[in-house]
Amino acid sequence: MDEKVKTLVTGIKDSGVEVEFGKYIKCAHCPSKLFGFFENSTGLTICQNNSKSQYITESTLVHELVHAYDFSTATLNDNNLSQRACSEVRASNLSGDCDFIREFLNFSDGFLKKFTGQKVNCVRRKASFSLSQCENLDKCETDKIVDSVFNECIANIKPFTNEQFKKF
Ligand SMILES: [Zn+2]
Repeated sequence: MDEKVKTLVTGIKDSGVEVEFGKYIKCAHCPSKLFGFFENSTGLTICQNNSKSQYITESTLVHELVHAYDFSTATLNDNNLSQRACSEVRASNLSGDCDFIREFLNFSDGFLKKFTGQKVNCVRRKASFSLSQCENLDKCETDKIVDSVFNECIANIKPFTNEQFKKF
């Protein structure tokens, strides 16, 4: 997890953004069920009242750092839903949001295929859910937007190398 955070923070800093804990990365009380969020203008917030475990806090931090990385390196347009969907796919894929499934990967090849497929479905579902929450859109609409960018964006693991990603 440390390596994920370090790699992302380095990538964000390299794009010219100052990443200061307490300023760019901060904690706050949030409405229930919200674990964290990112705003292009102010940086990212971790919801201290809802992040009940270290695992949730860490995966939320990585999730939001992926958004911060995408916005700081690619000058994404806040209003462009495809770009936001892409960032949600990447954040779910890279943060560990869906990695509890990996725990079960060691049974057999059949299981491996099944659970690898489940991870992909989990990433798709979470990305669509996040987008619908942020944008107040219907799930059917966000499913379509996520599907239109899914293959390209799940394959984009920047700033991580393949070697790093395999270890996650
Ligand atoms: Zn997100």
